[in-house]
Amino acid sequence: MAKYLGDWAGDYRGGALAVLRPASVSEVQVLMRLCGELGLGVIPQGGNTGLVSGAIDSKGSGLVVVSLERLSSIRQIDTENFTLRADAGCVLQTIKDACEAQDCLFPLALGAQGSCQIGGNAASNAGGINVLRYGMARDLVLGLEVVLADGELWSGFSGLRKNNSGYDLKQLFVGSEGTLGIITGVEVKLFPKPARTETAYLGLASFGAAVALLNRARRNCSDLISAFEIIGSECIELARLIDPGVRAPVLAPVQVLIELSSGPTVDLNRVLAGFLGGALEEGLVTDAVLATSAAQTHAFWAIREGLVEGQAKRGYHVRTDLSVRISDIPALIEQARRFVALEHPGWIPLAYGHAGDGNIHFNVLPPLQLAVAEARARGSEITAGLYAIAVGLGGSISAEHGIGRSRSGEFWSGLSPTHRRMVTALKNAFDPKGLMNPGCLLPSTETVP
Ligand SMILES: Cc1cc2nc3c(=O)[nH]c(=O)nc-3n(C[C@H](O)[C@H](O)[C@H](O)COP(=O)(O)OP(=O)(O)OC[C@H]3O[C@@H](n4cnc5c(N)ncnc54)[C@H](O)[C@@H]3O)c2cc1C
Repeated sequence: MAKYLGDWAGDYRGGALAVLRPASVSEVQVLMRLCGELGLGVIPQGGNTGLVSGAIDSKGSGLVVVSLERLSSIRQIDTENFTLRADAGCVLQTIKDACEAQDCLFPLALGAQGSCQIGGNAASNAGGINVLRYGMARDLVLGLEVVLADGELWSGFSGLRKNNSGYDLKQLFVGSEGTLGIITGVEVKLFPKPARTETAYLGLASFGAAVALLNRARRNCSDLISAFEIIGSECIELARLIDPGVRAPVLAPVQVLIELSSGPTVDLNRVLAGFLGGALEEGLVTDAVLATSAAQTHAFWAIREGLVEGQAKRGYHVRTDLSVRISDIPALIEQARRFVALEHPGWIPLAYGHAGDGNIHFNVLPPLQLAVAEARARGSEITAGLYAIAVGLGGSISAEHGIGRSRSGEFWSGLSPTHRRMVTALKNAFDPKGLMNPGCLLPSTETVP
């Protein structure tokens, strides 16, 4: 069962009574009925790439893991209406490739796309690099099919883009992290595949300049930006742990990876070159390299992906997923860096993220000589300090990764009594026995009526 019980980063290794791998929706219904009769808690699991311990029970307290991996077919691609229906266990990359073959785009894009599943993406309301243009999973889901806690099937597929009749039930399941039901099918919006894409790697003097550049880019590039990633230069070392040959194309303390995409009638290269010319002239950007080939574009993105993998390779680290208003990004990073330098000297802060959405992963690496147990204990203190800084700026402790088991305590304690009452009422309405992913999102005791 090993592959279903540990997390991607190697931070947690849990247990389970059994791993069930249903091959059809009706098998999911049967197992949910059986688990209900036996009073067994169930953890729905997609690709198990989540970063908040939502799909594994790190305490190993006798739950059943239900893997959706055998429900893996694309059911339909409708190129006339730009929609797709797939089984929940279909891997995101498979969906993206199938859409591309039909000249369509499914824009959800993240580092784990070769392993994560569309059902997991919906359940965790995944974000990724294209959110500033296309939105999060929540904005892309048109309909869901869900097996409820008592084994009943709800099919919420309609293919409709507008359907303003009452509560939008699918949205309750998006981001519910397996706590309300098991998603067995997903219907999503597609877009025309962009005919043109331009990518540039930029050097800037500060995070403030990067935020000003984003604002300017949105106005100058007619909102054709599909990605705007900020990378602190200190992160490049981590990408080198994956590929020692990695070189940042620019030498600057703050680096930005910007991508524009459009249909065939826009002279995208001119739009980007014009915008960058102005930004260079004004000194907002200090250096810029435009990708002139697919290989160069790939090399730019390999830096962004490698720095995430490099952190996992280095070992335990403090990982956050903060969001603030875009204009507050410089303050967030400055305060967080100051906090680490003053209170945890020797720890190495990293700042990068989908800055176009105000999302910064402010991660902190322990000194290499520190024992893991000590690093973990100190890591909890650092995490708490970073959360306090984000909340102090009116931000969120979870921009896109969700709450899972790792953040349920902080999430719950940050809610108002009214908010808690509504969350508990919803949970109890859908899962009165508290069997759906106990301990995830809500602390366990709150799931009991
Ligand atoms: C290298 C890397 C990069 C990443 N980059 C990003 C990123 O840019 N943006 C981002 O948002 N995330 C990112 N992630 C996190 C992760 O990939 C996403 O959260 C992804 O959506 C999880 O999908 P999954 O299928 O792996 O779900 P899992 O990890 O298996 O599960 C996630 C949660 O959803 C529930 N769940 C899964 N499937 C179902 C289902 N069918 N029905 C009901 N509940 C279900 C689980 O119980 C769990 O609570 C990254 C992860 C890695 C490893």
